[in-house]
Amino acid sequence: MANSKYDMRIVFLGPPGAGKGTQAEVVCKHFTLEHISSGDLLRSVVKSNSPMSEKIREFMDKGLLVPDEIVVEIVAQEIKKDRKGFVLDGFPRNLTQAEFLDNSLSPLNICLDRILNFVTSPQKIIERLSGRRICPKCQAIYHIKNMPPSREGICDKCAGPLLQRNDDKEKTIRERLKVYSQLSEPLIEYYREKEILCDVDGDLDVDALFEIIKRLLENPAISDYSD
Ligand SMILES: [Zn+2]
Repeated sequence: MANSKYDMRIVFLGPPGAGKGTQAEVVCKHFTLEHISSGDLLRSVVKSNSPMSEKIREFMDKGLLVPDEIVVEIVAQEIKKDRKGFVLDGFPRNLTQAEFLDNSLSPLNICLDRILNFVTSPQKIIERLSGRRICPKCQAIYHIKNMPPSREGICDKCAGPLLQRNDDKEKTIRERLKVYSQLSEPLIEYYREKEILCDVDGDLDVDALFEIIKRLLENPAISDYSD
């Protein structure tokens, strides 16, 4: 599969809880693409002992967001390492990052092929995220509806008590969604004008959505999916 004919450069856009991460894993496995998550990348750079890690830690220690230039630089370096196909998951987050990214990829003659925009209803997102429970002891993740532990509130693996993260409480989710839509609107417009953006239905479950994405990526001629 090394010479996969699907060497695509794809971006998954969507709010938290849209299922981008899960879908990225499945799609990357099927098409032999690299899964690039900017969050994971940042975390691994911070752990390394590079000059870059010090820079990033300074911002994080102050509770500040890592500046767009730095995030883009890290992602671009990763893309340069392996010029085969990839899925960028949850990145870029805003228009500035998107423009920086284009600027750092164009000298390499790399351009993004497809932007999949996970259109997801707030109701579905709240259902998915607010049902999430984590075990602070062993980091296991559960869902009260989709993946419940065998005893309510108790971790199957280590018998520790399960918690709901603050980020997963309904009020916080609604705030995160508001921030997301403010940042993503200009971004979506930017890619729509380039005619590489395609909406997909983030309310669908994993398998149904994968079928659609698979068809979409196998047929570059399909420029939009709507029922
Ligand atoms: Zn546990």
